[in-house]
Amino acid sequence: MDRNKRQGDFFRRALCLALTGLLMAAGLWGCGKQEEKLVWSGNSQISDRNVIVPEENDKYRTFYEIFVYSFCDSNGDGVGDLNGVIEKLDYLNDGDPETDTDLGITGIWLMPIMPSNSYHKYDVKDYMAIDPAYGTMEDFERLLEECKKRDINVIIDLVMNHTSSSHPWFAEACDYLKNLGDGEASGEECPYFDYYHFNKGMVWGYSQVPGTDWYYEAPFTGEMPDLNLYNPEVRKEFEEICRFWLEKGVAGFRLDAVKEYVSDDTEANIEILTWFNDMVKGIDPDAYLVGEAWINQPEYAKYYASGVDSFFDFVFAGDEGRIFRLASGQYEARQYGDYVATAEQRYAEYSDSFINAPFYSNHDMDRAAGYYIGENAQAQIKMAAALNLTMSGNAFIYYGDEIGMLGAGRDENKRLGMRWTTDTGAEGTCRGPLGADTVEQVYGSVEEQQADPDSIYWFYKNLIRLRNQFPAIAKGTTTNLEKASDAELSVIEKTYGGQTVCILYNLSSSDKEIELASVILSEGDTLEKKQMVTALSAGEGAAAADGGTLMVPAYSLAVFLVSEEEGK
Ligand code: CA
Repeated sequence: MDRNKRQGDFFRRALCLALTGLLMAAGLWGCGKQEEKLVWSGNSQISDRNVIVPEENDKYRTFYEIFVYSFCDSNGDGVGDLNGVIEKLDYLNDGDPETDTDLGITGIWLMPIMPSNSYHKYDVKDYMAIDPAYGTMEDFERLLEECKKRDINVIIDLVMNHTSSSHPWFAEACDYLKNLGDGEASGEECPYFDYYHFNKGMVWGYSQVPGTDWYYEAPFTGEMPDLNLYNPEVRKEFEEICRFWLEKGVAGFRLDAVKEYVSDDTEANIEILTWFNDMVKGIDPDAYLVGEAWINQPEYAKYYASGVDSFFDFVFAGDEGRIFRLASGQYEARQYGDYVATAEQRYAEYSDSFINAPFYSNHDMDRAAGYYIGENAQAQIKMAAALNLTMSGNAFIYYGDEIGMLGAGRDENKRLGMRWTTDTGAEGTCRGPLGADTVEQVYGSVEEQQADPDSIYWFYKNLIRLRNQFPAIAKGTTTNLEKASDAELSVIEKTYGGQTVCILYNLSSSDKEIELASVILSEGDTLEKKQMVTALSAGEGAAAADGGTLMVPAYSLAVFLVSEEEGK
């Protein structure tokens, strides 16, 4: 060790001691338990503690689902593209944890980006290319690079249940059958014959190969022939496809329609997903997978046995889901904590590494803001977002939901161009899918809502910030504090790595007063005023404690930091 280095070490240690002394003094001065600093944000109060930037291999993220077609158009043809997504990355996360001018999401799910005949691109013609309407492979690589700078993980949609009927595999198999005459078909003569499910004669859910008496399985449409995922050759193809994208730097895949791999056969689908999960993680142990199994909760819980990290928590989503029913007062608030805790316990039965994937709406559902009508609609939209975004796991936000975009009925209406400004001719604006109806929007554009700290946009942003500040929110195990809850108030506790938070949600239109001492935490302690770290208001004023009484205004939530162990 040379002399300069020793001196440097001495000064560093001295500085450390001095700083520790100062911190200790500040701690004593603050009377033992340190109070969090709260900052006003419109009608809400948020903690000013730093947001935590996830390590690259941290699978816990807050995801933002992007339909590239409708997000941002960079070249003026009206269709969104990858360069458009790059232009808007600073809107999503600018990579600087100090700023609050971005949403703060830490993951992106790109709906299919591979060449396809349809506007939605769920019928893939080439699994290792970019649809020209969206840009080039270089654009995609640049997008990954820009996301990496911002600590955003990107996952892409992988449609493995079926290909496009224009995929060369399928085209070749059909050509073979057309030229076969009366001969016996065989996978040895044409390997692609065994890539799909062909059958001589009509079966339900099958479509005809034109000019032959051959039919193929295609339960969605004739343009989407189902793949035979039991064929080792097909599995080899997907191994190559996954390796291709993982080597480019994608963080993982969103798996489309996993319950249709073998329709209505959970066991078979779990077997296929087990192979897929092992294969992908053999290539990249840190890869993240989330599956779409649009069935009931006890059934999709079983899918966790495959090792796939996440499955979308459908029972909470959509216009018949629990979030909507709780936020609109159809279900009693006290049920929320029970629903969440029970879901976590259910998934844990099948996997000790499950990461729940709560979401509120997606590209197949009516836009969530449209579920609410009447004078409390906007407050209920915000409280629904709160119920959704304080759930543990990887929360998924559908683009445009953070500004309360509307669109229902036909699928095209659910996938309209993102409303960056009110000027529909503004640069970047996407025309949206052809065939969409004219949908009248009620809530402001991004530009308008950014200027209003009480907007839906700001509410989402504050919720995401909360997720990024307190790991117990996104990673915690939930306990329902039933005794403190009632028909209008939900009280839960969440614990992770030595941190425990308690959240109170007032889902009603009346203010509520609560004796802090009456909220008995799971450790037997009671809530204390000085523990309050965030109070988000979807209505008129933020929660506030006066003496031993906590006022939780109508449509608001209060977050308490109950305990925290250093260094955890
Ligand atoms: Ca374009």
